[in-house]
Amino acid sequence: MTTDFVRDYFARALAADRLAHAYLLWGPAPEERDRAARDIAAAFVCPEGPARGMAPCGACRACSAVARGASPAFIELSADRDTIDIDAVRELIATLAIAYEARRVVFAPRIERLTLPAAHAFLKTIEEPGGATLYLFTTGNIGSLLPTIVSRCHRLPLYAAEAHPPPPDNPDLERLLADPARRDELDSETLADYAPGEDRRDRLRVLCAHLIAHAERRAAALCGEAPAAPTIFDALDLRGVLHVTERILAAAADIDANIHPDLLLECLLIDLRRGAA
Ligand SMILES: [Zn+2]
Repeated sequence: MTTDFVRDYFARALAADRLAHAYLLWGPAPEERDRAARDIAAAFVCPEGPARGMAPCGACRACSAVARGASPAFIELSADRDTIDIDAVRELIATLAIAYEARRVVFAPRIERLTLPAAHAFLKTIEEPGGATLYLFTTGNIGSLLPTIVSRCHRLPLYAAEAHPPPPDNPDLERLLADPARRDELDSETLADYAPGEDRRDRLRVLCAHLIAHAERRAAALCGEAPAAPTIFDALDLRGVLHVTERILAAAADIDANIHPDLLLECLLIDLRRGAA
């Protein structure tokens, strides 16, 4: 999901009063995901933010306090440290215990910095939703987090639009991906037909680019931003789309790792079938 999509997603969730209390934004680009989280945080605490489509007004007291880094409504955990330790979490718990009359955000960039004792203390905090407190975490590596932390967060995969440009024209592959009934035809042999002349890794790159475009299309249709167009992901709800997007991004990120591309493709296809079932 691009930053714009994530902003829109929060605006809709807030308008529908369906905001979860903890979100984990993850993606390969640290600046992108931290900027997205800060934007959302600023818009959340700005009284005008939600009505402006999750864009802070930039002019009110809340906005200028957040910009100065001096707002009690915006708590950033251990901004300049390599770890988030138990003392930082205790301090947070003490701060949160003080009643606060407006919305506030706890922002923990690179949540993988939590030490183990800190993570356990932190778990208790995010288990008790404080009503108007929104937890925003970011990470580049979900695998390094305690599964109990991950499972308590709503996960949002995030990438820069320029990192996944529109896929190259491939009408035959598009026809296949537009037909949910033909999902099972996808395998490495078929893929070789659709991207002849390319090596296995490049074929997988082509497939991932098309799949991401389809996931975006399904997400846009679910959000009412684009008319529904047939895609391989037609059976998925928004949560399902976010899940398969995660799997596709993870596979795309592994293409250049030391994993046989056919194995990577097999795993991706299993994930997709499971996700789209
Ligand atoms: Zn404002």
